[in-house]
Amino acid sequence: MSSADDSRAGHRNGGASVKGFIQKVRFSHPPLNDSLEEEIQTFLIDEDQLHTFDDLTKVNPVTPTTVLKCLKARYSMRVFYTHAGCTLVALNPFQPIPDLYSLDVMNEYHCAPQPQEFKPHIFIVAEEAYRNVQGQLEPVNQSLVVSGESGAGKTWTSRCLMKYYATVAASSSVMKSQDTVERIERRVLDSNPIMEAFGNACTLRNNNSSRFGKYIQLQLDRCQLLVGASVQTYLLEKTRVACQPANERNFHIFYQMMKGATDEQRKEWKMPHGQHYAWLPNTEKIIEEDCFYETLDAMVNLGINTERQREIFRILAGILQLGNVDFSTSTDESKPCNLKEQSEDFLQRAAELLCVPSEELQTCLCVRTLKAGKQNVLKPCSQTECSMRRDCLAKVIYAQLFEWLVTFINNSMCADSSTWYNFIGVLDVYGFECFQINNLEQLCINYANEKLQQHFVAHYLRAQQDEYVSEGLQWSFVKYQDNQSCLDLIEGSPVSVFSLLNEESRLNRASDAKTFRVRLEKELSGNTNISWDKFRQVPHFTVAHYAGKVVYQIEGMVEKNKDPVPPELINLLQKSNNPLLHQLFNDKTTQNPAAKGLSKITVVSKFKNSLESLMRILHSTTPHYTRCIKPNPDCKPLTFTKEEVIVQLEACGIVETIHISAAGFPIRIPFKSFMQRYGLITKYSRFKSEGVCVDLEADSNILRQEVEKLLQALDSSNCLESQKHNSFVHCGRTK
Ligand code: ADP
Ligand code: MG
Repeated sequence: MSSADDSRAGHRNGGASVKGFIQKVRFSHPPLNDSLEEEIQTFLIDEDQLHTFDDLTKVNPVTPTTVLKCLKARYSMRVFYTHAGCTLVALNPFQPIPDLYSLDVMNEYHCAPQPQEFKPHIFIVAEEAYRNVQGQLEPVNQSLVVSGESGAGKTWTSRCLMKYYATVAASSSVMKSQDTVERIERRVLDSNPIMEAFGNACTLRNNNSSRFGKYIQLQLDRCQLLVGASVQTYLLEKTRVACQPANERNFHIFYQMMKGATDEQRKEWKMPHGQHYAWLPNTEKIIEEDCFYETLDAMVNLGINTERQREIFRILAGILQLGNVDFSTSTDESKPCNLKEQSEDFLQRAAELLCVPSEELQTCLCVRTLKAGKQNVLKPCSQTECSMRRDCLAKVIYAQLFEWLVTFINNSMCADSSTWYNFIGVLDVYGFECFQINNLEQLCINYANEKLQQHFVAHYLRAQQDEYVSEGLQWSFVKYQDNQSCLDLIEGSPVSVFSLLNEESRLNRASDAKTFRVRLEKELSGNTNISWDKFRQVPHFTVAHYAGKVVYQIEGMVEKNKDPVPPELINLLQKSNNPLLHQLFNDKTTQNPAAKGLSKITVVSKFKNSLESLMRILHSTTPHYTRCIKPNPDCKPLTFTKEEVIVQLEACGIVETIHISAAGFPIRIPFKSFMQRYGLITKYSRFKSEGVCVDLEADSNILRQEVEKLLQALDSSNCLESQKHNSFVHCGRTK
């Protein structure tokens, strides 16, 4: 056992005798004030008191079980926020809590001299970042990282944070006229309903599940007023447009159109009442997010004019029509597939709405053009290939439209670089995912979570180390097992899962899952984070992530990584007479699949690049972590399921954090508080003492001497186990 392990053992062993000792003293003690009460609690595990712990690291002993009990106790008392050292844990109430986020509450936290002394709340984190941003010497940009699994409350929390800044950083005077300031805050807040309409969907886990990640930077001027914002998005789940998992839905915007359209719009969009759309399942479900007019209002506020809106909705309606186009097998292989009955109508409508010639649309879907030297050879596609091309068309249009919206929103919110001085960034990304079947999407998402976890641990350890240094104590952490080797496995060089995947994608051959699996095993078996289950039939690999093992299915991974778009489809869209659609596929400045070279970038390379730039930003800011927890799988109000929560505590790294904090000193008491509390021992007890009256306002050197005397007295009375005393109690400079 290392010496650090010894010292931890010392804590635990010592804990028992110190506890008994304190209980003894407690009886002869005058009433305690609140902060003293809190300090005593750190030594006691009193189940009735568990809900009073505002910080999980103060629970003693700190174990997953005690942490879980504490959170449960708090949840049942309707306390939803709890600190965990430098992290805030947010439990989702799954019902509106009156007055928890009101303007008054915002102002209370904002105006408090010491908001940290208030009850834990997301506004403490918000306010701390807001005060930090000014910095002591120079401004320090801040990042608020919100994580958690789907339905845990990340997007809700991000919205709360944005509202907070739009409120406290808004100004009625200075620099800007009232008009401009209002407009900016409005726009920043209005970006949410638009992005959620286009990027969120009803899933089994969450009725309003974000199907993309986002990092929004709120730009502040020298007076710390909100003057603009910019947003970066990650990995939109575009497959949802053409394929919705069982019992889930397409993106909200389609349902909003369907439910909110006027008769005139229905006519324009060729969407008669009662028409069924294959890509619009579960229409009957009534959910709050189906609010078309809110989206329209937000569009207007952000400056999307009526003409542009018409273009957008015609494109979306065109996509829906496309979903009803079906192909029948051709008896003659040399002839293209036919359209199924009724599909011709839908194809016609789709072509009209997308403003492309309908015959050409049909040819693009059914015939592939191969280059043979200088000649083009036409090859009819199979029925499956036709459907794939149809889906691909819908996906590429939707993804480009989403990108365009994000760019538009940015142009509309972003302040001129000369007017803003620093920023607070809010990161809302999908949490760790482990499903029955995991593929490239989960690999990317879990890779992002590994990156964030590494960043968190580095930051947390640095904060701990800083405190040790400032207390003049030796840095005594056991070497923490970090997740670098898992990251090496996924993204490292020269060989990693990503590099092999890219190589396989570059080789223009029909990829075979079995040979790829053999390759992975051959090249990567040196890394202990990858393994294979001998009994599993389908080609797969298992990665040991910090949050748990995930089995990834190899089938389809290479193809997803290539994400190919047939050039005929791009050519067709470039010819569209819908001005917006035309722009989406001709504008060389946007990330256009048609733009030269870009189409060759694989999904993982693109994701890795965008994540690396995000990490660079995060590294240059002061981070604040909020871990959202979903207390039950069914989104039931005020219901806490232990099994559900413990898994998330593990997955979001809280248990890790606790382990790390247990590797250091779990309890740190300032000398003054210590003497206030334990000075009495020397005064009233049977211990002989010289320092009866300690001046608590004395400087820390004097207090330190007193503390040491006291510790010696305890030591000689065997109250602390004497041999271990040195290893588990240390006097720093102030604590
Ligand atoms: P995530 O983004 O993590 O997937 P959301 O933020 O969309 O999850 O939250 C899921 C749902 O939970 C929300 O639609 C809302 O109904 C509810 N919810 C989340 N946080 C809160 C909260 N603090 N108070 C009340 N309801 C909440
Ligand atoms: Mg979300």
